[in-house]
Amino acid sequence: MILIKTAADLSSLLASQRASGARIGFVPTMGALHPGHLKLVGHSKKNSDATVVSIFVNPTQFNDPNDYTRYPITLEKDIYLLEQAGCDILFLPAIEEIYPEGTSLEEPYALGYLENLLEGKYRPGHFQGVCQVVHRLLELVQPSLLFMGQKDYQQCMVVQQLIRLKQLPVALRIIPTLRETSGLALSSRNLRLSGKDKEAATAIYRSLQMIRNELRPGNLEPLITRAVAEIRAAGFEQIDYVSIASAQDLSEVAEWDGHSPLVALVAAFISGVRLIDNLPLTETGSPVG
Ligand code: AMP
Repeated sequence: MILIKTAADLSSLLASQRASGARIGFVPTMGALHPGHLKLVGHSKKNSDATVVSIFVNPTQFNDPNDYTRYPITLEKDIYLLEQAGCDILFLPAIEEIYPEGTSLEEPYALGYLENLLEGKYRPGHFQGVCQVVHRLLELVQPSLLFMGQKDYQQCMVVQQLIRLKQLPVALRIIPTLRETSGLALSSRNLRLSGKDKEAATAIYRSLQMIRNELRPGNLEPLITRAVAEIRAAGFEQIDYVSIASAQDLSEVAEWDGHSPLVALVAAFISGVRLIDNLPLTETGSPVG
């Protein structure tokens, strides 16, 4: 694995790889890697000639400064895991390499309603920051394939919108969420949970499954109420949302016709750690197309 720290070195190395016809796969991350990230790397390896992983904790996507300063960093272990996983190039930039002109955004990305609901509503500015960093990274790496996790369902939709808006020549591949056997979705933020909290946090996936199992056409409000109660009873101190939404545009669905594709999404805090998860409720629930 080649470790690269500057944008200039990355561009020249990848230009030569591209010139020799290599199809580049890209997995952007914020580090503190776990098997979910490595699953994305595995998919990239299978579908590309060269796999690039970036580790960059992007300050512009954190609306909460405490969340940024407390974001877990496990760099030595990450490098080891990526070597084992067969990653070809690890891009590990300093902030100046990503934002040479500073972090302020010249013109906001036209994300429309996506910015105002769910994660967008509870984390103002988050998706602008996501677009800012992903756009910059895509321009540097110029991959054919971009691998992202369905765990961040709305983020996948936002990045697909970014690709459309900027007409970037890359295909987004979305990889299903990897979970612990308990059902808890793997997340870097789980490192900040005690064993007891991790056990309690399985309530999120259980309530998502409950929603999927109990789903019937008609009014969905009772399912939301029940899920909220279950998550609160497990010890979550704050629930930002439990939503049953259109799998295509994330608009809230209050009455289900029994046909339209749905996804259930949750964001909640346990011991000060904000966890998100989601579960498609129908066969055709996917964030893009
Ligand atoms: P992060 O480092 O949290 O920004 O995540 C980097 C990428 O890994 C994103 O595309 C995430 O959606 C994806 N990812 C995070 N957790 C999981 C998981 N449990 N299963 C699959 N992909 C994941």
